[in-house]
Amino acid sequence: MQRRAQAPAPTPPACAECARFTNLARDAEREGDHSRATDMRVMLRRHQNAGHPAIAVQLEGEL
Ligand SMILES: [Zn+2]
Repeated sequence: MQRRAQAPAPTPPACAECARFTNLARDAEREGDHSRATDMRVMLRRHQNAGHPAIAVQLEGEL
């Protein structure tokens, strides 16, 4: 939470959690760990399905 990754985002991150899972998935893919990358994508989707839009609106002002 305290770390600020300066990863270039092709699409604007919907919220901090989305950005985190996206970065983790990318890191895993870069390391060739496809099962972990898939895990992270599943987590991302699960997070997005769990009331994500409300969080995104709240965090937009902080970013
Ligand atoms: Zn999110």
